[in-house]
Amino acid sequence: MAEGTAPATDVRLADAPVTDVSATDVPVADVAEAEVVDVVDVVDSVGCRLCGAVLTRTFVDLGMSPPCESYLRADQLDSGETFYPLHVRICDNCLLVQLPAYVAADDVFSDYLYFSSYSTSWVEHARRFVVDMQERLDLGAESLIVEAASNDGYLLQHATALGIPVLGIEPAANIAEIANHKGIRTESYFLGEATGTDAASRHGKADLVVGNNVFAHVPDIVDFAKGLRALVKDDGLVSLEFPHLLRLIENRQYDTIYHEHYSYLTLKTAGLALEKAGLQIVDVQELQSHGGSLRVFSTPIETAGAPTEIVGKVLQDEADAGLHSVEGHAGFAAEVFAIKAELVTFLVEAARSGKSVAGYGAPGKGNTLLNHCGIREDLLPYTVDRSPHKHGMYLPGTHIPIFAPERLAETRPDYIVILPWNLRAEIVHQLGYAREWGAKFVVPIPRLEVI
Ligand SMILES: [Zn+2]
Repeated sequence: MAEGTAPATDVRLADAPVTDVSATDVPVADVAEAEVVDVVDVVDSVGCRLCGAVLTRTFVDLGMSPPCESYLRADQLDSGETFYPLHVRICDNCLLVQLPAYVAADDVFSDYLYFSSYSTSWVEHARRFVVDMQERLDLGAESLIVEAASNDGYLLQHATALGIPVLGIEPAANIAEIANHKGIRTESYFLGEATGTDAASRHGKADLVVGNNVFAHVPDIVDFAKGLRALVKDDGLVSLEFPHLLRLIENRQYDTIYHEHYSYLTLKTAGLALEKAGLQIVDVQELQSHGGSLRVFSTPIETAGAPTEIVGKVLQDEADAGLHSVEGHAGFAAEVFAIKAELVTFLVEAARSGKSVAGYGAPGKGNTLLNHCGIREDLLPYTVDRSPHKHGMYLPGTHIPIFAPERLAETRPDYIVILPWNLRAEIVHQLGYAREWGAKFVVPIPRLEVI
């Protein structure tokens, strides 16, 4: 993400060739066939990742988009670029809202740069969590905390500082190496039942297993949950954070739909996935992070007591919003179109009236939005990001160039479109200097606002 007090935008620089058609899960003989495979065939062949039912109902269809973290170097701009469907389905049987695994996780996650520690606010969020957990579970030198998708140790470093032994599991080998250099014991593989069982046999089981923003991002959510179960002690706790579908719908956060985000979870559907692995939800917290997330605590079913009242409250909120019926999920597509119409109209009118526009941030979510809206350099000439890893790169699909934030002061745009809307307050404060030349900030989601 970004240095200092910089806002966090997702920073993953995919180094893999963007034209790699083998990244699909489609069983095809060659590239030419892969490109013409019917989407419905793919979906039918995969089925619901939770219950196996055939997926026939659309939640929202955002058309075709390249993987949102496949940032391009200048020398890749004249090459082909593979676009995959962003067609989100809902299972009639279990209500899991899901994106079929159009892009294989191995291709997305194996070698990208995603340094959680670039976000000061996210690191602080993690620190508070570790301190809370130490008190709640009375963790010490004899305990073990395991984190799945531990990244560069942004969370586990706080446990290490408190003298609590840790194990990080981070699929991206280059990032695991960085964590190890920082003294955070980290191994590199995907967590599933087999790898979780193996890790537990070598390191012992954990008092606390953590998964922040990974549960919704694994294609085989049940196998991942079984990995969690394999790693946690019978009287241990599993803590998972994931974006709450209720908030995604309420706040029209459709740009949080991207290829790596496979499952769009309610507390109800998350509970179903955990149950399949022998885990039961016992408590939940509603968080502001990522536009509205749930932190779900579960324990092995054998030792789980009655869930807290807040679990019942959140389930009731979901039911009241219609999310415990398939019909209650309808209507989101119309909301999405309203956002697109507002933003495109604004940018076209700005261009017609001779106003200059720039973007702020290059998060993955921005790429969903820009690709879906068809916004390219003609309407948004450039964006800036605090992460030096992105400077000189281009956004996937739209090919909008990314510069350092200093570019804003050099070009003094009339409007600055904030792409990571979840950090709007932080960014507006940070870019206060742009008011000097009269710049206004534009936030497209949940509805277009010029501030
Ligand atoms: Zn299902």
